[in-house]
Amino acid sequence: MKPAPFHYHAPKSVDETIVLLAEVAPNDGRILAGGQSLVPSMAFRLARPAHLIDINGVDELKRLEVEGEELCIGACVRHEMFRQRIAPGPLGRLLSAVVCHIGHYPIRTRGTFCGSIAHADPASEWCTIAIVLGATMVARSVRGTRRIPAHEFFAGIMATALAEDELLAEVRLPLLAEDTRFGFYEFSRRAGDFALAMAAATYRLAGGRVTGPCIAVGGAEPMARRIVAAEQALQGRAPSAQGFAAAADAAAVAIDPMEDAMTSADYRRDLVRAVTRRALERSTAAL
Ligand SMILES: Cc1cc2nc3c(=O)[nH]c(=O)nc-3n(C[C@H](O)[C@H](O)[C@H](O)COP(=O)(O)OP(=O)(O)OC[C@H]3O[C@@H](n4cnc5c(N)ncnc54)[C@H](O)[C@@H]3O)c2cc1C
Repeated sequence: MKPAPFHYHAPKSVDETIVLLAEVAPNDGRILAGGQSLVPSMAFRLARPAHLIDINGVDELKRLEVEGEELCIGACVRHEMFRQRIAPGPLGRLLSAVVCHIGHYPIRTRGTFCGSIAHADPASEWCTIAIVLGATMVARSVRGTRRIPAHEFFAGIMATALAEDELLAEVRLPLLAEDTRFGFYEFSRRAGDFALAMAAATYRLAGGRVTGPCIAVGGAEPMARRIVAAEQALQGRAPSAQGFAAAADAAAVAIDPMEDAMTSADYRRDLVRAVTRRALERSTAAL
């Protein structure tokens, strides 16, 4: 099928974008970033936006740089950029380990980091990473700029705290201390498919024991979230098979898995146990 008719706008600045968005958002105007989620849903006529605001010509939104203690990722930065070590230390290594799990190469060369965050698919790798790292989302509109912490941003399946007239202008990820250990693991039925479950973990060691663990699970519930029970199970323990298994068991108990025709809740719960344990096991190899 072909998309339903729409008006196309191609602003050249953020200011122009947010003025246009304020005008057309009430008439189902939408941002077009990489188009890797929006265009297929338009082709199937699941989405019929009356206006598309294509931000690909806005140079300000191509910014990808470290500012202070944060990596700033502009709205036009493509997934594939993270293949390189774009940030110093463990953050750069974590992002380049995760990016290869997103779809296929052509999707990664068009789709954007911020587009994934704005789209908020439960199985988005970047949403899980934003949660585990405690990202800050920077929203711009004619009403001003809002900074939204990751734990307040996601609101459910493909639902966020963004208002209809807000552009997600950038996402800021905190740099990780040099001694941070990290791990990521996901399970999907075929390479490139959306994951059925994924886990991301970071922690440091103090006196040989885990301190400040952050463990997030994605793909299993309507939105990625930190699993506090799993973090508590790991805190203060040696980074050992037993500690990782205890955290994984706690994650499996804590989640309320989604179900569909192909994937039962019990199966997803079991997957959460496996991906959490494997993400933590990878953390010892990641140094
Ligand atoms: C076959 C296939 C496999 C895929 N596999 C994966 C996968 O494994 N993991 C994964 O995470 N993703 C996957 N994707 C999706 C892909 O990562 C998309 O790039 C991503 O979900 C959306 O980014 P985009 O830049 O393409 O956004 P678009 O498709 O342009 O937009 C998506 C939605 O977000 C809104 N939006 C986009 N940017 C902004 C912004 N800056 N501010 C406000 N609203 C905005 C749009 O209005 C639209 O509603 C897959 C896609 C395909 C087609």
